[in-house]
Parts: sequence; C-alpha cells; structure tokens
Amino acid sequence: MPLTHVPLTEDLIREADGLFLGLLRNALIGVYIIQNGLFRYVNPRFAEMFGYAQKDICGRFGPADLIEPQDLDKVQEAIDKRIDGSAETAHYTFHGSHREGRALELEVFGTRTEFAGKPAIIGMLIDITARRAAERTATEQLNFTAQLIEAIPSPLFFKDEQGRYVGCNKAFEAFLGSPRDTIIGRTVFELSPPDLAQRYHAADQALLDNPGVQTYEASVESAGGQRRDVIYNKATYLKADGQLGGLVGVITDITQRKQTEALIWMQANYDALTGLPNRRLLNDRLAELVKRTHRSHDCVAVMFIDLDRFKEVNDTLGHEAGDRLLVEAARRIVACLRESDTVARQGGDEFTVLLPGMAERAPIERIAEDIIQSLCQPFQLGNDVAYVSASIGITLCPADATTPADILKNADQAMYHAKEAGRNRFSYFSPSMQANALEHLQLGKDLRLALGAGQLSLHYQPIVNLASGRPDKAEALLRWTHPERGPIPPEVFIPVAEELGLIDTIGSWVFQHAAATARRWQQSLPPELRETHPIQITINTSPRQFAKGKSLEVLLESLEALELPGRCIAIEITERLLLDEQPAVTAQLARLRAAGIQLSIDDFGTGYSAMAYLTRMDIDTLKIDRSFIHKLVTHPGDLAITEAIIVMAHKLGLTVVGEGIETEAQRELLAAAGCNYGQGFLFSRPIPEDDFFDFLASQGAHASP
Ligand code: C2E
Ligand code: MG
Ligand code: MG
Repeated sequence: MPLTHVPLTEDLIREADGLFLGLLRNALIGVYIIQNGLFRYVNPRFAEMFGYAQKDICGRFGPADLIEPQDLDKVQEAIDKRIDGSAETAHYTFHGSHREGRALELEVFGTRTEFAGKPAIIGMLIDITARRAAERTATEQLNFTAQLIEAIPSPLFFKDEQGRYVGCNKAFEAFLGSPRDTIIGRTVFELSPPDLAQRYHAADQALLDNPGVQTYEASVESAGGQRRDVIYNKATYLKADGQLGGLVGVITDITQRKQTEALIWMQANYDALTGLPNRRLLNDRLAELVKRTHRSHDCVAVMFIDLDRFKEVNDTLGHEAGDRLLVEAARRIVACLRESDTVARQGGDEFTVLLPGMAERAPIERIAEDIIQSLCQPFQLGNDVAYVSASIGITLCPADATTPADILKNADQAMYHAKEAGRNRFSYFSPSMQANALEHLQLGKDLRLALGAGQLSLHYQPIVNLASGRPDKAEALLRWTHPERGPIPPEVFIPVAEELGLIDTIGSWVFQHAAATARRWQQSLPPELRETHPIQITINTSPRQFAKGKSLEVLLESLEALELPGRCIAIEITERLLLDEQPAVTAQLARLRAAGIQLSIDDFGTGYSAMAYLTRMDIDTLKIDRSFIHKLVTHPGDLAITEAIIVMAHKLGLTVVGEGIETEAQRELLAAAGCNYGQGFLFSRPIPEDDFFDFLASQGAHASP
C-alpha cells in the first residue's frame, strides 16, 4: 500500500496530546508534580509503586513521606534547587519507602516547571529495584568467577578468536614468568619462541575451526626456559550474540607426575643396587631380540654369570660388603661389553648378558674371558679385600633355543656346568646339560635324606710321621653312598650341601663322629702312651660353617662329652677363610684354639699369595697341596716351592704335611726337605673306620682291635 504524506497539524497534535495524557496516567512510569512540598499530582503507577492509591498521595504526601531516611537530604536538596531556580533538571537515583516498609530503588528524572502559575517540579520515576538486584547478582557472580579463576592453581587463560590473550590468572603469569599486562592483547607469536608459537597457534586454530573442547599433552617451555610436560584442556566460548568469542584454556603441569612415572618405571625395571636392568627389563629385551632373530635371522648370545663363592663373602664380611662387591662386579662386567649389549642383574650374585649380533664363538669367548679375568681381580671393600671368580654359561639363539624361557634355562644350565667343571670358567650349553641339571636337582633332594638314611659315613686316611714312619694322625673324609648311584665324591656333594644350607648339619655330624673315632683311637693306646704319644684326627670344614658358628659349638660340646683333649682334633680350613681376617671368624678360631684344637691350612699353595695371616693367626699345620707333590719329581719348580714352604713353615713354628704322596720318590724328596708328615695313597687310601684300626694294628702301631 503506497504511503501518503500526512502533515502534522495542530489538530493532530491536540489529539496526540490527549492520547499522551492517557498514556501518562496509566504508563509503566510513575509521573508526579511537586509544589509547596506536596505531591500535587501522581499517576496511578506512581501510587502503586509505593503501595498506595492515587488519592492517598495527591495533596496529602510530600516527598519526605516516600523517601528512605538516608536519602532524604539528597532528594530534598535536588528539589530545592529546582524550586529556587538554581537547577533546571535533575536525574538521580534514591531509595524510596514502600508502604509495607521495604525499600525501593528508584530512578528519577525531574524538571522545573510552573503549575497554576507557581514554581513546581514535574518528574518521572522508574522502579529499578529488580534491575539493580539483577545487576548486583551479576556483579557478584562476576567477582566470584574472577576470584575462582585467580584461585585455580593451574595456569588458565582466555583468548579471543584472533588468538590474542584477553585474560589469565596468576598461575598463568607465573607459568610464563611475565606479568599480565605484558600478556594481555598479545598472541603466542609475540610471547613464545617461533617453533613453539607455531605449534600453539596450530592447536588453537584447530579448536577455533571446530568449536568445542580440546585436550592434549605437550612439552612446553615455561618461565626461565624450563621444559614442562603439560596437559592442555581448552574449550571455545560464545559471545552474548551467540558468535564465537574465543577460547579458554587450563594447563595442568604433569612434569612431576611424569617424573614419578619415570621413577616408578625405573624402579620396576632396574636393580636399585647396581643400577643395571633387572630381570623384568631383561625379559623384555630378550623377547625383543628373539623376535628380531626370527625376522632377520640374526643371532644372539646369552651369558649367565654367577659369582663363585660370593655367598662366603656375604657370610664372612657381611651384606654391606657383599653389596659393594656386587656394585663393583656390575661395573666390571659392563666395562667388558659393547654399548649395544645388555647386562642385567638376575638377582643375588647372578648377572645375565645379552650380546646381539653374535654368531661366531671367538668374539663371544673373548668377552667371556674378559669378564672372568676382570672378576677374579681382588675386590677392595673398604678395609677388606675379597676374592671371587665367575662361572659363565653361554647359549646361542636361535641355535640352542628360540624362546626366552628356554634360552635363559639353557644359559643357567651351562653356568652350572661351568661351576661343576671347577668354576672360574665358561661353558657352552649342550643338550646333555639338561639331564645333568635334573640330576643336580635330584642330588640335592637325595642329600637331604642321606643323613637320616645312614648313607653318610667317614673314611680315615692315615697321616704318617715321615721321620718315624708312624701314622700319628688321620684325616676324616666324608663319604656318601647313594642307594642307586653308589659312592658320590665329596667334591660333588659338598658344594650341593653348601648351596642347600645343609653343611651345618652335615658338618656337626662329621665332628661328632670324628671326635668319637679320635676317642676310640686314644682309648686303644696303651695307657702309658696316651700322654706321650698323642694321636690326632683332622676334620675338614667349609667356610660357611663359620658363618653362624653353631656347628663349631657342637664340636666343643662333643669334646667335653667325650672327655677328649682338644689336641686330638685338628680342623682343616682353607686359606680363603683367613685372608680377610674377619673378626667373627678369628674369634671362633680363637675359641677352638683355646680348647686345644689345632688349626691346619688345607690345600696350601693353591689359593692366594697373601700369607700375612700366617704370622697373625695361631696356625699349627700347613698341608701342602697335592698338586705340588704330584709334580715334585718331574718339575724342579714345584720341588723348590715345596722346599720353600717347608722352610718358611718351620721358621714360623708350623708343622708341614705333604698331601697326595703316591710314590716312594715323592716321600723321599719330602722327607729330605724336612717335611714333618705325609699323607697319600702310598701309605693308605682313605678307609672305613674299622679298616683304619686294622691298618694301625698292621703298622705295629699301638692300636688294639
Ligand atoms: P682334601 O681335604 O684336600 O682331602 C684330600 C683329598 O685328597 C681326599 O679326597 C683324598 O681322598 C685325596 N687323596 C689323598 N691322598 C691322595 C693321593 O695320594 N692321590 C690322590 N689322587 N688323591 C689323594 P676326597 O676324599 O675325595 O675329598 C675331597 C675333598 O672333599 C677334600 O679335599 C675336602 O676338601 C672335601 N671334604 C671331604 N670330607 C669333607 C667334610 O667332612 N667336610 C667338608 N667340608 N669337606 C670335606
Ligand atoms: Mg682336607
Ligand atoms: Mg687337601
């Protein structure tokens, strides 16, 4: 419909004014006229605002009746200024009083006018109570949110859709190491190194392109260039008009957590003592290598290293020294290997080595030799020196086995083989070892039963006085007759007994029986000879028996029970036991000496060249090892050593026994060198007790059956 031009005429204005009056009367706005301190006119809305009717107010109430006392002066002043003409208009807010006593928040706009020929004020009043309350609530909420954001310990920031920072909290300032005013209004390009900025920006942009939430882990640079591991949690926000406003992000610093995780991983995968990978990590790496060998037809050599006699170090020098030795042993093994090899501590004194890419035996053996060499060097442990050696089992994958479990089992068996073959060496795995390992296990089980089943016995080997030819002493040697396998040599089952912790029980049994035999021997002497012609039984001991000292107690008790003089017993110890001069060991030896028991060093000359202990310890006898005697006639060097030992021993006041004399020539050389006693097949093999007494009788010695 076309619009026609309608001019504003006087008539129109009059008509409109009439309408306005109607509107004013019923409007949402309160309208009033004040004159002479009274409301001359208020519209119905005005009256209603205060809880009155129009007629209640008009001509009856003055402003003071509807104003809260605290605002009375302010309002009165504003009214006065207009009445006296010093102000034309006024616009302010004040608190009005509702009829029911509650306060109203009101906004007023008044202007000076004339009413009935006199100054008056005409004005409009709007009830802003609800709006103000809403504003207050909004402000409170804003304050609350602002406080909350500040209080959040995680760095938090907002950005607009251009990626400019528009706000942040204290934690964010601290995180960046810069105050807020240097952050707000800037983009990451102005705040971070270019490579990082590019990454941050790309992540922000991805979120802004796809509004919603975004979470990711990142490594970032925080204040002072520190790298931190963080999680970003970001979300986009909308403006009041529903348009994308930008994004808000919270940073959770997980550096500590990552470190803890790394630590836990370390603890789970590495041995705390040596810092080497543990069994678990070894299994992982081995599994990985095995997989690789399947794929690429590669070879891996696996070594199982066990320290020989480590338990003795632990038992005699204590666990702390043992620990130190392990740490040093680990270091030495690592030094023999390439970067790409893995050494793990399997537990106890066992180490496993993985040698990837090893197919040839020669380089593997070189490494094994290096390890053996470096581990048999003395270990300086504080003031103590300890000696161990290493037995190494070697197996090849895929030649010997193709699963990690089998490979480790093979390496273990090969190691046992190396031990059985005399320790301080390496052995390759061979399928026959499987059977041997089972046998070893069975042997241990059988040995536990052997003592109770009466399968153990003692044989005696005479020790002959080389000057008089008389058997004045005898060595007690343990025998085990296995019900199915027959005699098992002590060199085989003594280590098993040590390993299984049976040596104390067995040792005590040996003491008791040997002491009883010594008693029988002594009783067999004519009474007049018992004092002048002392006899002696020598008893072998394992260093482990000195660990607790309980079995030595048994020895002293048996002597007492039998009323046997201590000198009728000598115990044979190995050089190694004395090397470290452990106070606990020396104290026990001193107790034995105090009871008259003699100390004899067995296999002298085979172990160590440190002989200082000979001057400090109360030793009675040296037994020169069979290996020297064996070559006495053929090797002049061995004769020289034997002679030297005899001279030295005599200078120290010690008696000397030559072990393993098999020929007359050997006996003669020893006798000529001044050796006091001889022991060996030439005189007699080790024989059962009754045979031994027969032997004594046959020698015309003092034994009566
Ligand atoms: P050992 O203490 O050095 O004992 C001497 C070994 O040499 C004995 O071997 C003996 O039979 C052997 N033998 C003696 N004379 C000759 C000879 O002329 N030629 C040759 N070839 N050998 C000779 P056996 O009885 O097999 O004992 C071996 C080792 O077992 C002993 O060496 C000792 O270290 C240990 N042993 C024996 N009985 C016990 C025991 O009751 N307790 C402990 N802890 N160890 C024991
Ligand atoms: Mg012996
Ligand atoms: Mg010996």
